Amino acid sequence: MAGPFTRMISGRNTAVLLASLGAGTVATGFLLSENSLAADARTKLYPPSSDFPDLRKHNNCMAKALTPAIYGKLRDKVTPNNWTLDQSIQTGVDNPGHPFIKTVGCVAGDEETYEVFAELFDPIIKDRHNGYDPRSMTHHTDLDASKITNGVFDDKYVLSSRVRTGRSIRGLSLPPACSRAERREVERVVVTALAGLKGDLSGRYYGLEDMTEKEQQQLIDDHFLFDKPVSPLLTCAFMARDWPDARGIWHNNEKTFLIWVNEEDHTRVISMEKGGNMKRVFERFCRGLKQVEHLIQERGWEFMWNERLGYILTCPSNLGTGLRAGVHVRLPNLSKDPRFSKILDNLRLQKRGTGGVDTAATGDTFDISNNDRLGKSEVELVQLLVDGVNHLIESEKKLEKGQDIKVPAPIAQFRK
Ligand code: ADP
Ligand code: MG
Repeated sequence: MAGPFTRMISGRNTAVLLASLGAGTVATGFLLSENSLAADARTKLYPPSSDFPDLRKHNNCMAKALTPAIYGKLRDKVTPNNWTLDQSIQTGVDNPGHPFIKTVGCVAGDEETYEVFAELFDPIIKDRHNGYDPRSMTHHTDLDASKITNGVFDDKYVLSSRVRTGRSIRGLSLPPACSRAERREVERVVVTALAGLKGDLSGRYYGLEDMTEKEQQQLIDDHFLFDKPVSPLLTCAFMARDWPDARGIWHNNEKTFLIWVNEEDHTRVISMEKGGNMKRVFERFCRGLKQVEHLIQERGWEFMWNERLGYILTCPSNLGTGLRAGVHVRLPNLSKDPRFSKILDNLRLQKRGTGGVDTAATGDTFDISNNDRLGKSEVELVQLLVDGVNHLIESEKKLEKGQDIKVPAPIAQFRK
């Protein structure tokens, strides 16, 4: 069978999937997912129209894309790991919107979710990623940090710089769907591989179970560690199950290269430091990420990836590069200007509070990052962030001097 499934079942993934499916179902594993198969005997008792969620008050991409017809076609399908459409959309059904960002409203339980439920996920991806068509367009990766220009910001304005992405281990279910055993397997595979990091990147793993509350809180307060999943966006996507089993953080001695294990994604790879040297942060990010991938591959595993969707992650908003490059930046004048939001939109930047995605963007200091993930490479997105933040700082300086500022023209979405 040609197409995306062929890639997905190549290599190590085949062995893992075959093992998880059981030998008898191997041959039909992917046909199974393409044909309709009742996920649950109960669903057969009622037609999909009786099960269709009430989305009338909703403002997320899923609610916009899900029609009774699509639901009818997909409700009873399952992925090879038994993940259903209803499980994918539960977070978007239970969370009509988010006060600060436009949410996607669905998650993937495994790599195959994006194919088995493509009729729903494709329009969601197109909506969230500004018209990127996952059937006809391809995504490309570029981790050559030397291409970045003007990547050092004025420390007077930029307090810290950070680049993160996610990576998933092919053949293991994603956090919304994984069993305890799979989650522990992710931890084992990743932590074993990371022991091979050398030089300035070498460090160690700190499992949440082995940390005191105080140690955890200190790392959270210092912006290094993910918070406990109290956000209903995560809990309604089943990501807080068994907390803190098999969750943890790996970091180097300087805490400038960090890997989160089993939060929202199998892994989140982060490079960060105080001050405005985004170029150096991105250089370390690229170098570290390539080494991590190499160490994982050496052990016979690989990351979930395909050329249409790029790197496969739990939330469709993170497909492609999974990259969020951001700064904590002080903009006391610009942030009070009524044109601030329009300027950010046109520069394709997103604003968050400095305590993370669930904190309000108030006060003088903001987390400003790239809004896009898919259809542009890592280098392009970091350059876009760099150019955008330089523009914001220039505008802030002008306002300080009482000069006027201009709203920049909107940036084009995709590479020509
Ligand atoms: P992510 O997209 O990585 O999940 P979140 O918004 O959930 O980001 O924030 C995760 C943590 O990372 C929070 O503690 C947040 O304060 C911290 N963080 C994000 N960006 C920066 C930055 N530029 N400098 C310092 N800390 C940051
Ligand atoms: Mg987060």
